[in-house]
Amino acid sequence: MKTDLKVNPLSQWIQTKGDIAIIAGPCSAETEEQLLATARLLAQTGKVDVLRAGIWKPRTRPGEFEGIGKEGLTWLNKAKKETGLPIAVEVANAKHVEESLAAGVDILWVGARSTVNPFTVQEIADALQGVDIPVMVKNPVNPDLSLWMGALERINRAGVTKLAAIHRGFSSFEKTAFRNEPMWDLAIALKTHIPELPIICDPSHICGTRDLISYISQRAIDLDMQGLMIEAHIDPSIAWTDAKQQVTPAVLSDIVAHLTVRKSDPKNVEFADKLTELRRQIDKLDDLMVQKMAERMALVEKIGEYKRDNNVTVFQVNRWDEILQKRTSYAKALKLDVHFVEKMFELIHSESIRMQTEIMNQPNQAV
Ligand code: PEP
Ligand code: MN
Repeated sequence: MKTDLKVNPLSQWIQTKGDIAIIAGPCSAETEEQLLATARLLAQTGKVDVLRAGIWKPRTRPGEFEGIGKEGLTWLNKAKKETGLPIAVEVANAKHVEESLAAGVDILWVGARSTVNPFTVQEIADALQGVDIPVMVKNPVNPDLSLWMGALERINRAGVTKLAAIHRGFSSFEKTAFRNEPMWDLAIALKTHIPELPIICDPSHICGTRDLISYISQRAIDLDMQGLMIEAHIDPSIAWTDAKQQVTPAVLSDIVAHLTVRKSDPKNVEFADKLTELRRQIDKLDDLMVQKMAERMALVEKIGEYKRDNNVTVFQVNRWDEILQKRTSYAKALKLDVHFVEKMFELIHSESIRMQTEIMNQPNQAV
């Protein structure tokens, strides 16, 4: 997937106190007292870089609290003046963008329910044309990498280069321990396509429950994400939205204090040398695997031709069962994860079938 995204480093628009950016604040601005009291305690931790609050809330069911609206922007601005923290809000249409800009909001974000809709994202992008404000784009509700990249591209094409992605997990039919499945592979794929794009993790919306936040935060950092957005409330038990997943400013401070940030670019020479050596060995093995795969596929081609010339079906279930059974028991003996090896052979097998089907449909040169 090619992309022409142009982005500035995160350090150009968020001044971080520690190694990674910490964005914290309530899910929703509820009252002036709630917002200001939360903001004060967050600022006092000395660990928070940006204050967040939802002003317009995209709710699943009508009749739930849908955000305090414009009035909350005034409270946020008060909190900014008092604490010195830059403020961030979610915008879901052009009016939200205009009102936020007029109220002195420093950073905007596009929510997961907006990222799914290119019309909405385009409306926001049009309202941002020529405006120099940082924008963070949450992943869409559904696990669709192109949709996420497309939203980032739309905002970027409006001239916004202070851009980041927020990984908040994906909706899944299967009920697991998480509110939204992390599906880390998608965030890794985004990073692979656009290495310079900062990615911030939102463990609160991934977890749905506060107990898991610290675990997911550490996982995100281990994957080299550059920041965390964590929902914090003066009294989570009485929060009007997302009560189960919010933490007090004190707990937030504790979570941040216990994170271990490992460097992705080690300065220690001895460590770097060891890493280079291990990577060299891995490169060698990877080359060998590719070479062996080419040899295997050359044999597959021969088998395909043979089957075609003898009118035998491409797929023979017995043979496939035998391959899978033998390879997985060998893998088990070598202490490899059986599920991983199964998945690997399924991929190899489907490529073999694809190649053989192609050969079946080619005329026999010899005839
Ligand atoms: C939020 O940040 O409060 C929010 C609504 O998040 P999401 O868009 O990830 O659901
Ligand atoms: Mn929320």
